[in-house]
Order: sequence, then C-alpha cells, then structure tokens
Amino acid sequence: MLSRAFRLAYFIHGDRELAVRISTAAMSKLNAATAAQAKRSYYRTGRRSRAPESKVISPRTKISLSELHLLQRLVYVESEPHERQAEQRQSATIDEESLITRYIKHLINITLMRNSFHVALGVSRFLYNYTTAESMKLYDLIMQNPERAKDDAYWRERKARLMRELKDRFGQSLAVVRRLHGEERFQPREDSARYLYLVKQCLQMFTPWDTPCPLLGAGPASGEIEALIFRGSNPDEEHQIEVVRMHAVIHPDCYERLVAGLDLDSTARRLEIPKFFHNSHRVRPL
Ligand SMILES: [Zn+2]
Repeated sequence: MLSRAFRLAYFIHGDRELAVRISTAAMSKLNAATAAQAKRSYYRTGRRSRAPESKVISPRTKISLSELHLLQRLVYVESEPHERQAEQRQSATIDEESLITRYIKHLINITLMRNSFHVALGVSRFLYNYTTAESMKLYDLIMQNPERAKDDAYWRERKARLMRELKDRFGQSLAVVRRLHGEERFQPREDSARYLYLVKQCLQMFTPWDTPCPLLGAGPASGEIEALIFRGSNPDEEHQIEVVRMHAVIHPDCYERLVAGLDLDSTARRLEIPKFFHNSHRVRPL
C-alpha cells in the first residue's frame, strides 16, 4: 500500500523525497480516517432505523470507501499543502502540465468524496464540454435506473458548487467566462486538445485502485450494464457499486465506450481544460 501511495504522489509531484513524505503522511492517517468513516456510517445507520417503513432508496450523499481508496484520497489531501506552497513561492516556474494534473486531481478528489453523480458531473462538465443534457444521459447510463435521474436545477446547483470549490483551490489562476444562456465556465485553453494524452494519463492514475472495468466485451457500451445495477434496498449496500460507477467515469477507456454507446462525440473532440493565469503577472522584457 505504501508503494502504491508513493507512486501516486510521485506521479503528482515528480519529486522522490516529497513523494516519500506525502505517502508516509497518508499512511499514518489511514487508521484515523477509517475510524472516522466507520463512525459516520454508525450514526447514519442509527438514523435510518427510525424509519424502517421507508422503501425509497435515498442514495448516500457521501459514499463509504474501502481502506485502499481512502489511502488513495489521503494522498490527494496530503499533497495539497505542498502544491499550494510551491504555487505561492515559485508560481512563475510551475509548468502547465503540473497545474493541469493538480486541477484534475482536485476535481476527482472533491467529486469522489461525494458520489458517482458528482464524478459524472465533474468529468463531463469540467474536463470535457459535454452539455448538461448529454451528461444527464451518461449519468442515466451509469445509474441504470431512470427513476434516479436528477433534474436540471440540481445539475446547475451542483455545478456551481464544484466551480466555487475549484475557485477556492486555484483562486486567481482561473478566470470565469459567461457563455450562451449566462452559463459560467472557466475560461478554456484554446489548445486543450494538445493535452489529451496527459489528461488520460491523470485519469488513469486517479481511477479507484483495483476496481474492475464494469463494461463487458469491447466497443460502444449502452443498454443494460449488469455490474452497475443496484438491486438492493439498503443504500449502505450500494457503496461498492458506486465505486464501480466512479471507475466507469474516471477510467478513460470505460468513459470512451460509454460516450460512444450514447452516440456522443469522442472525448478527443470535447476536451476542454481551463487556462491557468498563474504566471500572467510576469512582465515580458521589451
Ligand atoms: Zn475501466
């Protein structure tokens, strides 16, 4: 587990010494994080038992993660102060690739800590520019249950929330622009397509560890996807399927097969990453 945490931290920072510090810090906090999650689940279960007659599945707003996936998240969390420090001290020397990696890492971290809805929203709307209607179709496909679709207002409200959280993290480095119908987006890079390989490499690294690909066969995936269907009635039993749904969205090969199955454009045509203004204060010599 330690060596996996190390490899992830090294991927983010490209610095051995720092990767050792981050992975050991993440490991040392794992027990406490596992205990905190168990406590949260205990209280939640207690609340639920007061309404045993309720048959409606209310999906958890926060899913429970296995120890392995908690460790993966802890690496993201432990990495952040080091990123911020470097961004403040040497903002002019941080390259684009590092910032893009951090952006994707943060996006995955803040969505994965919630549920597959947020992961689908994050990837489809903050990395690619699929429309809300298209993203809704994708979410329907990974949920395999049309009754659990979210309405337009919920998508908008959650998107605004994620946008605020990304803004909190990257501050003035991200500029907000308004598009058709007043929709707010981060100002994109005109040359986003250049970074497709990097984006996929990041998503591959940030896919929940040791989760299987839920899509059988090859090529476009649509219709019934057995591994994504939840047939139980206790939402606490849905966590494992939630992690597999997250895999389907984060893992580039799976995601590509889902968008193909929905007849949507390929990710290469929809990649849209933000432009970072981190070193715009640098004065160019005349
Ligand atoms: Zn996969």
